[in-house]
Amino acid sequence: MKFYSVNRQSPSADLREAVMNGLAPDGGLYMPEQIPRIPKAFFNNISSMSLRDIAFVVIDMMIGRDIPSAVIRRIVDDTFSFDIPLVEMEPGISSLELFHGPTHAFKDIGARFLARVISYYSSQTPSRKVKVLVATSGDSGAAVAAGFHGVPGVETYILYPSGGLSRSQVARLCLPGSSVKPIEVLGTFDDCQRLVKQAFVDQSLRRDFGITSANSINICRLLPQMVYFFHAYAILCEREELTGKHLNSPVVISIPSGNLGNLTAGLLARRMGLPVDRFVVANNSNDVTVRFLSTGEFEPRRAVRTVATAMDVGNPSNISRILDLLDREQESPETCMSGYTLTDDEIEGVMKEVYSTSGVIIDPHSAAACGALRADLRDGEKGIFLSTAHPSKFPRVVERVTGVRHPAENTLLSSHRSAPHPRISVSYDALRRLITT
Ligand SMILES: *Cc1c(COP(=O)(O)O)cnc(C)c1O
Repeated sequence: MKFYSVNRQSPSADLREAVMNGLAPDGGLYMPEQIPRIPKAFFNNISSMSLRDIAFVVIDMMIGRDIPSAVIRRIVDDTFSFDIPLVEMEPGISSLELFHGPTHAFKDIGARFLARVISYYSSQTPSRKVKVLVATSGDSGAAVAAGFHGVPGVETYILYPSGGLSRSQVARLCLPGSSVKPIEVLGTFDDCQRLVKQAFVDQSLRRDFGITSANSINICRLLPQMVYFFHAYAILCEREELTGKHLNSPVVISIPSGNLGNLTAGLLARRMGLPVDRFVVANNSNDVTVRFLSTGEFEPRRAVRTVATAMDVGNPSNISRILDLLDREQESPETCMSGYTLTDDEIEGVMKEVYSTSGVIIDPHSAAACGALRADLRDGEKGIFLSTAHPSKFPRVVERVTGVRHPAENTLLSSHRSAPHPRISVSYDALRRLITT
């Protein structure tokens, strides 16, 4: 598979270059040149396929010419080493639980896959040191730290905004004896992201090291995220078949959106042939994407803090991929997406209501997706919302809203002080010094 830059000022790249570059030399994000169509027959049997088998088919179809199929098989088996259940919450609405991985958030999936692909490529050129850079607003950092922990020949730097993460989130970045190094930045998540982008266009840095990104901008974060959309569809089919019917209802999938990685992956899956009617883009008060869907104008803003912190993004990087995809497929946004914004009060209201009606505690991000889906779903449609994090990651909101004292998911770790690590101002020179010495 060849990958082009959405800025179209760089030559197209093969998978290896796209993964190692992270960002194309012209600063654009990579997109696959072709989006393979999955044969219709695949969907006739999908209900009987396992998550790993679906993952292999989808990924092999995308990149089977770049990585030997036997290696892909091993990488997807390692990546999808935990279950992704689809739980019916109320008639017609199900939650896709993406949080059963090591750090209890969906970002485990992209991080695990990417770490293994980078490891595969770096094992082919052992003389060149690979450095992975990632900016995190919350969960992605922990997922990357866990995903890259113990991957040989790779040094990982995780930039996080000062005050933007809870103490336990920071502690999770500091795995003992790991080649993963956290860096505190005295700025916002958008500042962190800008610093990372600067490193990628630093040609002299790139001459000395293989520099790559583990952010959702890396194409190998996105590819495995397509898989669970097919998997969710497979379970819906299976359920319908158990009642002696075939799935005929339009399927609507609601996505709690920040940097729009999940939305991009979903749109790609739909282009591969997944029968999804539309995606509901759920925003918190950082509603640039929902505004774009209603006005046609994309206007980045400064991010504000909300209860769903991982969605506090004012300038989602994947918007350029989405605009590019719509443009090349000649599709208008309203044919495949709708948008809905929830305030903090509304998000907490959904958490409370879901808990009192079904007894299930959901986290604020999943609640945003659930609330948006309820608002948007029409009669006769089947709705799925992505549950992107386990509620135990947000014990304070959960307790305030539901009254339930959820044990913090890793009390041992969160009571520990995290190991000392560098703190820098929003300065590229400071970052550069840290990663080159
Ligand atoms: C990162 C994250 C999101 C946002 O996902 P994107 O793919 O960046 O839009 C939503 N929920 C949780 C829990 C997250 O960690």
